[in-house]
Amino acid sequence: MPEFEAILFDFDGVIIDSEPVHCACWAEVLAPLGVTLDWEFYRDRCIGIDDREMLRMMAARSDPPRDWEGLWAQYPVKRDLFRDRMIGAPPFLPGLVELLEGLDGRYKMAIVSSSARSEISPLLEAGGLLRYFGTLVCAGDTHRHKPAPDPYLLAAQRLQARTALVVEDSEAGIASGRAAGFEVLAVPRPADVPDLLLRRLSRGLPAS
Ligand SMILES: [Mg+2]
Repeated sequence: MPEFEAILFDFDGVIIDSEPVHCACWAEVLAPLGVTLDWEFYRDRCIGIDDREMLRMMAARSDPPRDWEGLWAQYPVKRDLFRDRMIGAPPFLPGLVELLEGLDGRYKMAIVSSSARSEISPLLEAGGLLRYFGTLVCAGDTHRHKPAPDPYLLAAQRLQARTALVVEDSEAGIASGRAAGFEVLAVPRPADVPDLLLRRLSRGLPAS
C-alpha cells in the first residue's frame, strides 16, 4: 500500500509559475507613469505581500516620492492584462503533464489554493489538466484560509484520503498542511517540483 493516499498541490508557485507574470504586468502598467519595476526587486521584496503594500513601498522609493493611490488606480488594468496573459499561455511548470500522468491512478490528487476558483479552473482547463484532480479547494470553500488547516482537511475529506503529502511553496501554506496533520514537501519554485516530489515518493517507508 502506498505511503500516501493523496497528493495535495498548492497552485501559485507550485504547479504554475505565476509570479513573473504578475511582475511583468505591473511593470508594463506602471512604466507610462515613470515607475520602473524589475524582477529582482519584485522577487526579493514583493512576493507574498499585498499589492497595495507593494505599491506603497514603490511610491515611497520613487524619486521624488509620490502618491501610492495614483499607482493603485492602475490595478484594474493590471488585473485584466494578467488574466488575458495567463489564459493565453498558462505558465505551468515544465513537465507537469508527464508528472501528473505518472501519478494518475496511483494517488488521488487535489489543488488547494487561496486563489478564487475563477482564477484557477479556466487555466487548468486550458492546459488540459482538470481531469487529474479529484477536487479543487479554493478561496471561499472554507471559512478559515491558510495557515489554518481547514483547506487541506477539506481536500482530504472530499478525496476520502486519510494520508496525504502536501506540496507547498509559502510559509502560510506549509503551516496549513502541517496543522492538518500531513507531511509537507516544501518546494522553492515550480521547476523543482517534479524532481523533489518523485524523490520523496520513491523514498517510501523506512524498511522495518
Ligand atoms: Mg503558493
